[in-house]
Parts: sequence; C-alpha cells; structure tokens
Amino acid sequence: MPLAIVPVALFGLVIGSFLNVVAHRLPDRRSLVKPRSACPSCATPVKPYDNVPVLSWLLLRGRCRSCAAPISARYPLVEAGTAALWVAVAAVHHADTTKLVLGLALVTILVPLALIDFDRQILPNRITYPAFVAGMVLGFAIDPAGQPDRLLAAAIAGGTIGLVALLMPRGMGMGDAKLLAVLGVFLGSSVAVAVAVALVSGTLVGAIIVGRVGMAAGRKTAVPFGVFLALGGVVAVLAGEPVVEWYLSTLG
Ligand SMILES: [Zn+2]
Repeated sequence: MPLAIVPVALFGLVIGSFLNVVAHRLPDRRSLVKPRSACPSCATPVKPYDNVPVLSWLLLRGRCRSCAAPISARYPLVEAGTAALWVAVAAVHHADTTKLVLGLALVTILVPLALIDFDRQILPNRITYPAFVAGMVLGFAIDPAGQPDRLLAAAIAGGTIGLVALLMPRGMGMGDAKLLAVLGVFLGSSVAVAVAVALVSGTLVGAIIVGRVGMAAGRKTAVPFGVFLALGGVVAVLAGEPVVEWYLSTLG
C-alpha cells in the first residue's frame, strides 16, 4: 500500500489539473480540450513544460513566463487537493473495490462542482446529470446487491431537498437537490452524514461571515450551499459508514 500511494498521488495531480479546466471552462460551454490553456493576461499558450501540476507553478513562482502576470494559487491548490483526496480515499478503501471506485469517482465530481458553485452560485446540469448516470452505472456494475439502497438514498435525499427548494426557494435551489441525488446514488445511507456535515459547516461559516460583516452584507457574501454539500460528501466518503454505524448503535 505505501508504494501504491505514489502513482495514486501522481494520477490525482493530473486529474486535478483537468478539473481546473472543467471549473474554468464548462460553465461558459467552452471546449474542455481545445484550445490549449493560455495566459489570461497576454494570451500566450502555456508550454507543456510550464503545465506540470503544482511543480510548474512553484518553479515560475506563480507568474506567467511571458508577461509575469500572477497566476492564481488556486490552480496548484486544486491539483494538490485532488491528489490528497485520491490518496485519502485509496488509503481508507483500498480493501473494498465498491467503495474505492465509487469514492474516487464522487470526490472527483465534487471538486469542480464546489469550485463552480463558489464562483458562480450554480451547480451545472451538465455535471450533475452525467454524474448521476455514472453513479447508477458504476453501482450496478460493481455492486448490484447494494443498488436498491443507493437508489432509495438518492430518492429520499434529492426528493426532500427538492421539496425544501420548492417551498423555500431562497434557501436552497434545485441544483442542491440534484447534487443530493448524486450524493445518494454514490453514498447510500451515508448521504445522511453528508447532509449533517453540510448543515453544521454551512451554519457555522454563515454565522462567522454575518458576525464579521453584519447581516445585510453577510447575506450577499454567503458561501453557496453546494460548497458545503461537497465538503459533506468528502467526509461521508471517508468516514460515513463508521459514523452511521455509531449512530445506529446509540439507538440500541
Ligand atoms: Zn502572460
């Protein structure tokens, strides 16, 4: 296992580099493959040797090679963060193929969703719909016996929040409901842990923001709920099952 960490981390870095492109281009319906990445300041295409995840940003000290315009630290952070997520999922679930595959797929989907929701307050159907289909197909292919539970979790989680979104359109949107259906189809009953983490972290961060800038300004700067659902999804992938088992044991 310790040796396998290196290829998993390297692959996670490459995936993270692609997820940066997805978060940057997909909301504008631009191609994810063409053209090559270019500097937003001087439009010079990024050379392949300047496009190595994390390393290039460090060597260039966060600046474009041609015009020295600053390159956001978010790019290497997303790459390193994706690699860390892949290593964490592999470390926790390496003995269970179903959880390993579903976990890796889900955290990979959640990274661009969180970034796009943070940037633009939308959770694009062009990610949530194919993600739901991918979760159904993967679950059915690897673990057909567990499929009814996951579909039930998707229906309950997506349906409940969909109803909340319809009744209280200010709090949550249909994008959140669709993301919850995605979380349900990948996580099964652990989706409850994702919801709990999202509610607690969202309330906490909301209170901190309101405390610092006041109620009126706080409402405008509020972090969208999809970001917290994504965080909850990651926690549920890594620790969902033990938390659900612990909770059920307290019920006797
Ligand atoms: Zn430049």
